[in-house]
Parts: sequence; structure tokens; C-alpha cells
Amino acid sequence: MLPGSDLLTAFPWLEGAWSALRTYLADGRVPHALLVHGPAGTGKMELARAFAARRLCTSERGEFACGECGACRLLEAETHPDFMIVESPEPGKAVKTDLVRDIIASLSLRPQYAHNRMVVLPRVDRLNRYAANSLLKTLEEPDLQTCFVLLAEQPGAVPPTIRSRCQRVAVTLPPRAATEAWLRNHVPSEEAQLRVIVARGAPLLARSLDSSRLVARRDILTSFEALATGAADPIQVAGRWEKFGSEELVSCLISWLEDLIRLKIAPGPRAVHNPDLGSSLSTLAARLKLRALYRVLDLAFGAKRALSGQANRTLMLEELAIACCRTARGDR
Ligand SMILES: [Zn+2]
Repeated sequence: MLPGSDLLTAFPWLEGAWSALRTYLADGRVPHALLVHGPAGTGKMELARAFAARRLCTSERGEFACGECGACRLLEAETHPDFMIVESPEPGKAVKTDLVRDIIASLSLRPQYAHNRMVVLPRVDRLNRYAANSLLKTLEEPDLQTCFVLLAEQPGAVPPTIRSRCQRVAVTLPPRAATEAWLRNHVPSEEAQLRVIVARGAPLLARSLDSSRLVARRDILTSFEALATGAADPIQVAGRWEKFGSEELVSCLISWLEDLIRLKIAPGPRAVHNPDLGSSLSTLAARLKLRALYRVLDLAFGAKRALSGQANRTLMLEELAIACCRTARGDR
């Protein structure tokens, strides 16, 4: 359990989001449901925990949980009966309908320790229809003792009926320079910049990246360039791609194509996804045809959608490699 008082020292970029929560606490008007939204790896869960801790803490002083009262001790031991995090056993996956129903059924009992109860539900943007309906019913008939803190990476994917019943709190990405500076306290300094690039600026994601992922990304990007300059055989390259995760590969491809298209449309210094590729991106952009790049981008987005289903991955990788190769010849 995160001791709340360390929140802004540990994660300084949460100041803006915390100030909204601080106001609810100070006014004594904590909403029945909050939707905390922001990109992955920005500390939404840490924020929710600190907020829940302050709400359940019985000390009357301080902006954060005291860390010493009985409630705080129970929270620290993760045994507070009125604090629930409804997480899927599979990291990053949505919670199953039955679990949502069980939790909601348990809410018919009174809070056991205090007057308040806090329920944190991650990834509400991924709840299936049935789980979302169960949650909605609870939000429609608020029980004044319970505060739901719903977390989402894509608030637009949360059903509007749920969204409209929540107060929204946005967690935003800090400026890249600030993320890099923060990251240097946690990872080897020379890796900081690259980690921020790969994590698209999300600090906790950047910190948690495995160093081998940085190497894999560089291999993947190099292989795209080899294909687009006609220096590699697409079937051989697709074979080598098998060792990488398909999601990772497709996401790298999309970011690389978007960079090339951006530089093609407006040459010159641009903010790109992969700034570490430097001038080789601009050189390549100048050689490739825009239409060919869009064609591969379409394919890559199609592959991204297909990955959530039963895609034939080998075939998909070969198609992508051949499409990259065709950009070298200027084919449509
Ligand atoms: Zn306390």
C-alpha cells in the first residue's frame, strides 16, 4: 500500500489530478463515482489508492492519509474491509462479469470499519456489456457510503451511461523533459531518453520497460528500414519477426509509418514518435511515395485489429513485410 503522503514526491506529475481530488476531500463532498482517466503507466492506480487511503483514514489532519491510525494500518496490511480493488487475475485484462456482480452484491452489506467504503475498478474501458450493465445499475442507485473510483485509459470507450454518472479526473502525461529527469533517478541515465520514447512519455511505463525491449525495438525499426530500401528479403525478415510480440511489432510499424508520413507531408524538424532515428527517417521519407506509405499504414491498422481475434500471425507478418518491401519500389 502506498503511504499517501509520498504520492506527489514519488509521482510529481500527479499534482494536477490530486488537486481535483483534494478539493473533494476538503469540501467533504466526495462524489459517488469518479472516472480517473489517462494513458497507461501514468499512475492512475497510485492516485486512486492515495485518495482511498485519505478517505478511509480516521485522522482529521493532513491532506494525505496519516499512515498511523487503525484504518491506515489495515490499508497498509491490505486487509481493510471497506477498501476493494476489483482487479482481473490477468494483468491488463478487464474484470469478468461474475466478479463485478459479486462485488456489487457485497455492497449491500454496510461498511464494516468506517462510514465510508472505497471501490477501485481498473480498465472500465474494457468491461464487457454485461459487466458494464451490472456496474451501471449500481451507479444509478447510489449508496451514499460507497465511492467508486473507475480507471480508464480510453475514456471514450467507457459506456456513456457510466461516464455521465462520474466526475472525471484526468491524469495527463508530464512534459518529456520532466519525465526524463524523473526517470534518471530510477534507471541508468543513458537509457532514460530512449525509454521515454518507447513508452510514449508515460513515466511508470518507461521505468518498468525491460532493457531487452529497447534492443528489440531497435532491431524491428532497423528491419523496416532494410525492407523499405530494398536491402532485405521480406520472407526472411518476416521469419525473424516471429520472435517479437506481434502487438509490439505492429505498434512499432505504425509509429514508424506515421513518422515518415509526417515528414513527407511537412519536411523539416518535426516532433516524431522515434526521434532517435534522426536523419535516416527524413532521408527515407524523401525517397518513399506517400501513397505507398498510406497503403502499408492501412494494412498495419488492419493487422492491429486482427490481432485481437484469431489472426494467422505468420501470414500477417509476411504480408506486412512484403508491403514494406513494395514501398522501396514505389509500388502502390
Ligand atoms: Zn490514518
